[in-house]
Amino acid sequence: MRGRLDEVRGRMARAAERAGRDPSSVVLVGVIKTVPEELIREAVSLGLVDLGESRVQETEAHVGAIGHEAARWHMVGHLQRNKAGRAVDLFDRVHGVDSVGLAEALSRRAVTAGRRLRALVEVNVTGEVTKFGAAPDTVVGLLERVVELPGLAIDGLMTVGAPVATPGEARSGFARLRALRDESERALGLRLPELSMGMSGDFEVAVEEGATLVRVGAALFGERFGPGRD
Ligand SMILES: *Cc1c(COP(=O)(O)O)cnc(C)c1O
Repeated sequence: MRGRLDEVRGRMARAAERAGRDPSSVVLVGVIKTVPEELIREAVSLGLVDLGESRVQETEAHVGAIGHEAARWHMVGHLQRNKAGRAVDLFDRVHGVDSVGLAEALSRRAVTAGRRLRALVEVNVTGEVTKFGAAPDTVVGLLERVVELPGLAIDGLMTVGAPVATPGEARSGFARLRALRDESERALGLRLPELSMGMSGDFEVAVEEGATLVRVGAALFGERFGPGRD
């Protein structure tokens, strides 16, 4: 675990340096879906304190065992509106807000719980019909409606890149997300500093293109647990 973590962090740091960025400006989110509890604990003890899950139920078990002091919990998958309440109790950040309805449900529950939930608007930059995320031309309109919600702190955008044969092919999608962020900031007079993009196959390219959160599973925990279960 230590070797893999060092390797991934080293690759992130070199990618940041290539782009003239401060390596400490990029957070590694370890995606733990299907990873056994002992391995997760080992990773946390080695300093991997940002953990990502794509299912609410699995996260309940992990948060129960590891807690909120030792780690920060990121919802990286698609969240169903009827799970908004549980999500607010479990997660420190939700990466995939892609509709006003989901944003309102999360905000309502967060207000009831007396907190503000950090969240990102998910964008489907490649336009694949099978994927979640708002269409690029709807992002400014969606942001305009969700940034005012009292229970949410929307501070950036997220995308799940299309599967690519080489990391370089992911670059244009990541650049597109960054451009969309810049455009949204200008149009709405907002600050959207966070960009969640890049997974095991392409996180270095994502860092070069401005990612502040990379979501890495297989490269940290091994292929045997399977990448991208859902
Ligand atoms: C599974 C998953 C990841 C991690 O993918 P790897 O290829 O294992 O690094 C990142 N983001 C999302 C949304 C995922 O579902």
